[in-house]
Amino acid sequence: MTDASGTGEDGTGGADRGAELAANLAEVRGRIAAACAAAGRPADAVTLIAVTKTRPASDVRLLAGLGLTDVAENRDQEAAPKAAATAGLPLTWHFVGQLQTNKVRSVASYADVVQSVDRPRLVTALSAAAERAGRTLGCLVQVALDGGEGRGGAAPGDVPALADLVAGAPGLRLGGVMAVAPLGADPAAAFERLAEIAARTRDDHPGAGTVSAGMSGDLEQAIACGATHVRVGTALLGGRRAIVR
Ligand SMILES: *Cc1c(COP(=O)(O)O)cnc(C)c1O
Repeated sequence: MTDASGTGEDGTGGADRGAELAANLAEVRGRIAAACAAAGRPADAVTLIAVTKTRPASDVRLLAGLGLTDVAENRDQEAAPKAAATAGLPLTWHFVGQLQTNKVRSVASYADVVQSVDRPRLVTALSAAAERAGRTLGCLVQVALDGGEGRGGAAPGDVPALADLVAGAPGLRLGGVMAVAPLGADPAAAFERLAEIAARTRDDHPGAGTVSAGMSGDLEQAIACGATHVRVGTALLGGRRAIVR
């Protein structure tokens, strides 16, 4: 059991960590609000997702206590036990990593949204797993803005067909699109490209308005280009320092 201060079973919780996370959360929320204001968008237009990879379940619990509603992980081996350890908290779990089909059954048991859908075979596997689990999984089509090498994602030209496939798959709900800005590229240009792909997806599927883009270092650019969800790790939880571009 864990006490209300968040002192974790792994010994990394406690009042100091809680204060640190509260300060980081306030700063990130401030950045989001400023970026929304600069873009002429309402302050609640953007959902903050905490990327808790490499961080203990006690951090997830502390963030939930601070009012955070959405968390993301990128490896099933780490996400599955963390989701189990924080079951019962009012959290939406996002899976944002490259996903092998042999992990799909596990991911479908705890994830609410899979943001890294990038190939037809994965759609088929997720659909079967969701049906088997009696769950509906939100899915975002991950777009490779770097031409498809490295970090996963579908080539932009393949996105419409993949979106259609998700939209027609039992047990799945098409939410929209997701991308990671390519390393070393201008994030604003990448996010503008994503915005065009998101608009096309929304034209084809009016309910699919989610645009998941922006991380610790580039959330302002993403919000300027219409991101509805930002995925923030280091600026919230520490680790390497946020790169301010
Ligand atoms: C780790 C990760 C993030 C968060 O990155 P930070 O730079 O730490 O904010 C966002 N999206 C994905 C897909 C990630 O793997």
